[in-house]
Amino acid sequence: MGGGLAGLILAYNLREFDPIVFDRRRKAGKKCTGIISYDTFYSLNISREFLDREFKNIEILYDNKYSVHVNTNVTRLNREKLEIWLDEEVKTKRPRDAVIKGNIVISENEKYEGVIIDCSGWKGKAKWLKAIEYLTEPINEDKIIVYFDSRNKGGFSWIVPLPYGTLIGSISYINPEFFLPKIEKRNH
Ligand SMILES: Cc1cc2nc3c(=O)[nH]c(=O)nc-3n(C[C@H](O)[C@H](O)[C@H](O)COP(=O)(O)OP(=O)(O)OC[C@H]3O[C@@H](n4cnc5c(N)ncnc54)[C@H](O)[C@@H]3O)c2cc1C
Repeated sequence: MGGGLAGLILAYNLREFDPIVFDRRRKAGKKCTGIISYDTFYSLNISREFLDREFKNIEILYDNKYSVHVNTNVTRLNREKLEIWLDEEVKTKRPRDAVIKGNIVISENEKYEGVIIDCSGWKGKAKWLKAIEYLTEPINEDKIIVYFDSRNKGGFSWIVPLPYGTLIGSISYINPEFFLPKIEKRNH
């Protein structure tokens, strides 16, 4: 149950057992910053066509005063494209709300019995943050930049330069728009 990345990739890996994925969303493909370690990308065992870029450096800026450079090995997974592709490869039922009762999934008055794996996402009780992210024009930058602002308690912002554009985003308990970083455009 759940046709996000976890459910779809699991169903793909178990496809010899002909699993059914139930998801309440009409379409597959969640927009997501998609930064994962290279090791995680490698362990997903998927084509590099879903890897937008690799990064060896992340700069963390605090109040635009202090800067820390982290040497790393992370990738940008094009999660939307991957989920849309996986959705075609496995049997999905959407938009379908589903409920698990023991070893039965109930959806639209139909019952499905078998091995059930709950991939319906995070159900924590933490206070929700608001997040926004835009794709804008490409910039001349080869690292990810993460911004911490002492006024944005518990939140942060980011710039992720990709070959075809730049992701700029922010997450905050107050107004994330307020903390969106400004980008310098690429010189042609
Ligand atoms: C702004 C933002 C940026 C992020 N950036 C990153 C990042 O850079 N790197 C990273 O690794 N992670 C990132 N994440 C986190 C990442 O999005 C989650 O960890 C990931 O989505 C979890 O995948 P999932 O498949 O477990 O759950 P989900 O993607 O939440 O999928 C669960 C699915 O289950 C379905 N569902 C739930 N209940 C039912 C039901 N009763 N019946 C039918 N269907 C149901 C939902 O419709 C949904 O499609 C980010 C999250 C946010 C909000």
